[in-house]
Amino acid sequence: MKPVNDTEHWDVIIVGGGIMGCSAAYYMSRAGLRVLLFERDTPGSAQSGRNLGFVRQQARDFREVPLAMGAIRLWQDLERDLDRKLGWYQGGNIVLALSEDDIAQQFAWQKEAQGYGLDTQILSAAQVAGKLPGLAPGSNVLGAMFTASDGRAEPAQATRAFLDAAVEHGAEVILGQRVSKLETAAGAITGVRCAGRLYRAKTVICAAGAKSAALLRSLGIVLPQEIIRATVAKTEPLVVPFPHCVSCPMTGIRQAADGSLHLSVAGGEYDVRMDSVRYARWYMKVRKEQPEASRINYLSPLRGILSRGAPPPLADIPPTSDCVPPNPTRIEQALTETTDFFPAFSNLRVRASWAGYIDTLPDMIPAIGPVSTTGGLLVATGFSGHGFGLGPMVGRVLSQLIQGKQPGADISQFSPERFG
Ligand SMILES: Cc1cc2nc3c(=O)[nH]c(=O)nc-3n(C[C@H](O)[C@H](O)[C@H](O)COP(=O)(O)OP(=O)(O)OC[C@H]3O[C@@H](n4cnc5c(N)ncnc54)[C@H](O)[C@@H]3O)c2cc1C
Repeated sequence: MKPVNDTEHWDVIIVGGGIMGCSAAYYMSRAGLRVLLFERDTPGSAQSGRNLGFVRQQARDFREVPLAMGAIRLWQDLERDLDRKLGWYQGGNIVLALSEDDIAQQFAWQKEAQGYGLDTQILSAAQVAGKLPGLAPGSNVLGAMFTASDGRAEPAQATRAFLDAAVEHGAEVILGQRVSKLETAAGAITGVRCAGRLYRAKTVICAAGAKSAALLRSLGIVLPQEIIRATVAKTEPLVVPFPHCVSCPMTGIRQAADGSLHLSVAGGEYDVRMDSVRYARWYMKVRKEQPEASRINYLSPLRGILSRGAPPPLADIPPTSDCVPPNPTRIEQALTETTDFFPAFSNLRVRASWAGYIDTLPDMIPAIGPVSTTGGLLVATGFSGHGFGLGPMVGRVLSQLIQGKQPGADISQFSPERFG
């Protein structure tokens, strides 16, 4: 990479080297735009390199389904387009149903999904057993929702692949530097401030994951963004293929490209911080309705001091400066549920574990698109725990918007200004 000269002028500056920022950098630089991307740590060091790697359309809010379907179309050709391995495998996604209520909800979802042309099916218990031969006979599974066109990919590898391909198309990148401010004049973006310097562009994309709300706040944009610390465990390699991504009631299971199983329990720890007070009113309803989704950790402000910073880096997970330790209780929960449903996995040992901060918005759908009060500013954040699979399509849509083209999916429901 050549050194970046801050006296220049870019077409687009992107803040954040997660999957959103990196895929946007790729599609924009491929379209001939001059792009500069800032990443405060390493590419994929936050959520994008730490997630479970499900790439799914099913069980989403219907407002996201067109984006998710567009993303799958891109994922299918992405290894060829980027000329890199991404661990992409289109083995389908299975959500187990354990009650008549689950089945009824899955049927209702599938019926609506048919209107979008999605290939979701509802499987009988016998069909589930056929697809998952290791399923415990006494597991009380009544059926499942199954979407064959869903898939999986390697999170860190895919994020890095987008960035490397963007650089090949001419994108410039500054790593290890935090953007401290989005700069404006007369109601329009002029660039970003980093280490005291102004980097100029008429268009800036804020794709800073959990740090987006703080950057946008200084421009008067309200984004009640919260964070949940979610844990992932990686087992030793499984000798047989486990082709489908599976959601048990609480645990997601994916086989990684190296054969290991990656396990993650839904929800996680809610680490109290300054913004907890600022945004409390937005989350009262969801906390009341889903108390099990996150456990409040009042001691989190002390953790950074007591633990002396971030956990040690793991070989295949990009390092972060966040203090984000995995929770051993969640690992136990994930292992217990996995072996309850798949007894043959009871001998698998956990080789590694890590955590990541999921950024959420109160309505659990993202903020994507322009901000009317600040010309030239676009936002892509708040993916609420399911943005990895959408990443390629979000980058493409941002690129289309910036070129004045019709976006390839409807994003009208995702306005970053919907919180007032
Ligand atoms: C444990 C876990 C499991 C998940 N499982 C799935 C899954 O199976 N499937 C799925 O689709 N999604 C999943 N997700 C969600 C998914 O990972 C995210 O929705 C997605 O990665 C968000 O990407 P992003 O680019 O918006 O944010 P991030 O990946 O968080 O990237 C934002 C980047 O911005 C950088 N940054 C922040 N502030 C600044 C600044 N001021 N200057 C410069 N850089 C800055 C950060 O360092 C970071 O790298 C999971 C998330 C977690 C944590």
